[in-house]
Amino acid sequence: MKTLRLILGDQLNYNHSWLKTVDNNVFYVLMEVREETDYAKHHIQKVIGVFAAMYNFAEYLKKNKHNVIYIQINDKNNHQNVSKNIHQLVDEGKFKKFEYLLPDEYRVDSYLKELCSQLKINSSFFDTEHFISTRDELAKVFEGKKSYLLETFYRKLRVKEGILMQGSKPYGGKWNYDALNRQTYKGEEKIPPFLDFKNDYSSIEREIRKAHIQTIGSVDSKNFQWPTTPKHAQELVDYFISKLLPSFGKYQDAMHTSNWHLFHSRLSFALNIKLISPISVIKQVETAFLTGKTKADIAQVEGFIRQILGWREYMRGIYWAQMPNYANLNFFGHQNKLPDWYWTGDTKLNCLKHAIKQSLEHAYAHHIQRLMITGNFALLAQVHPDEVDAWYLGIYIDAFEWVEITNTRGMSQFADGGLVGTKPYVSSSAYIDKMSNYCKTCYYDKTKKVGDRACPFNSLYWNFYETHSQLLNKNPRVGMMLNVLHKMDKQTRQALLKQAEVYLANINDL
Ligand SMILES: Cc1cc2nc3c(=O)[nH]c(=O)nc-3n(C[C@H](O)[C@H](O)[C@H](O)COP(=O)(O)OP(=O)(O)OC[C@H]3O[C@@H](n4cnc5c(N)ncnc54)[C@H](O)[C@@H]3O)c2cc1C
Ligand code: SF4
Repeated sequence: MKTLRLILGDQLNYNHSWLKTVDNNVFYVLMEVREETDYAKHHIQKVIGVFAAMYNFAEYLKKNKHNVIYIQINDKNNHQNVSKNIHQLVDEGKFKKFEYLLPDEYRVDSYLKELCSQLKINSSFFDTEHFISTRDELAKVFEGKKSYLLETFYRKLRVKEGILMQGSKPYGGKWNYDALNRQTYKGEEKIPPFLDFKNDYSSIEREIRKAHIQTIGSVDSKNFQWPTTPKHAQELVDYFISKLLPSFGKYQDAMHTSNWHLFHSRLSFALNIKLISPISVIKQVETAFLTGKTKADIAQVEGFIRQILGWREYMRGIYWAQMPNYANLNFFGHQNKLPDWYWTGDTKLNCLKHAIKQSLEHAYAHHIQRLMITGNFALLAQVHPDEVDAWYLGIYIDAFEWVEITNTRGMSQFADGGLVGTKPYVSSSAYIDKMSNYCKTCYYDKTKKVGDRACPFNSLYWNFYETHSQLLNKNPRVGMMLNVLHKMDKQTRQALLKQAEVYLANINDL
């Protein structure tokens, strides 16, 4: 039966069972459409990266004798809309069946269901065969529970997949080695240069510019730095295991002005568009450790595996358990706008300047920069979660809603009231100074809470607790901070709140 199969830009699984056999009646369609480039203002590197990876995937299919229809962004017959393009292809190609892979985003899931209901031919969907847990696995594990604990889910997956296990016990006797990780980085170990693929995708950039797609950030498209084939993704894994893993956990939370990636893997983009499978990455890391092929100790190895087997699967599970309501949550009722300088990095706050400028330049910031610099400030500045989501969804190469929104609205902005995080991730300058060297060269004074050049994080931090003490007073993890606030003398407290008020009123000038 003549069948049309849709593959989306983040579904590039070269090992999918669909591709195991060649069937002349089956046609794979991939399309570059404005509908997808325009639903958020994306980083230019993200648009190029996805288009390049899609194109490479289509070439691979053709080389392996599959029928392929590839619609490019400036093609005349491109309706710039998935549904319209599919309708046209079905009519013109006389297809009898439409098949698609389960999308990761709620928006696209509803869209494809609607499309299928309109088509006059049979349709069905298939799994992407990428994730370790199923869409509804987390919801089932926590059925009837008020909170979803990462640790519970992570351990279940460790046991189920037999990762870092010795019989029924965790390898080394402990499930979690976080206490040994999270050191500061003071330049004591040389950070290996990042693995750069240097592909020339300037022709793709030209087409994007020709189509007048609105993007953010910069790119050197002649030397494109991100993986866009499974071969690149595997090279990145090999590089990570041999050069970065031994120091991964140790410096996982560290930040430094001299380097934008430290010992992080930079694998998220390749994983999210499915160029490489999470279980393959995990097993390669585990095998390197168990066979002594890496100098990394258990703390580094478990720390890394926890990110992919734990956090990544957990976030996806939360997404499918909570959407679509999750996208409207705003626990604190924050209404402010994001400061304008989030789009330029032109601010005197050195930590934010570094995190934002590198994000614009590389479409990347590591987890602690996202959580404790840009996310922390947005929460303290009481920015509406919609604004924060839009920024994160646009700026990072790895940003796809299922993993972006749970991290941003959930973990970073506490807009879900504590489903993902057990307390709001806010801090004063003390944490930032401990984990980075940003404060050393900052215009603001990290030690000052009020007055000229006082670090804005300090007053905004106490202002946050003052504003939300009612909402947070039952949270045992913030009780200590609320006690400190309530014991503060009136004058100090008033001065802090006044300082915060001035900063909030002049946020674009900071
Ligand atoms: C506010 C905020 C927004 C974020 N938005 C995204 C996003 O849009 N897309 C995205 O993939 N990650 C997001 N993250 C999670 C994390 O910051 C990135 O996955 C990580 O920085 C990617 O860099 P890396 O590949 O070098 O990661 P590494 O530090 O090397 O970690 C290895 C892998 O673990 C996974 N991982 C680690 N932490 C998380 C997490 N919290 N949730 C899900 N997976 C995780 C990623 O796949 C990552 O590639 C966000 C975090 C925060 C705090
Ligand atoms: S002093 Fe304040 S604004 Fe400056 S880098 Fe440190 S925390 Fe950031």
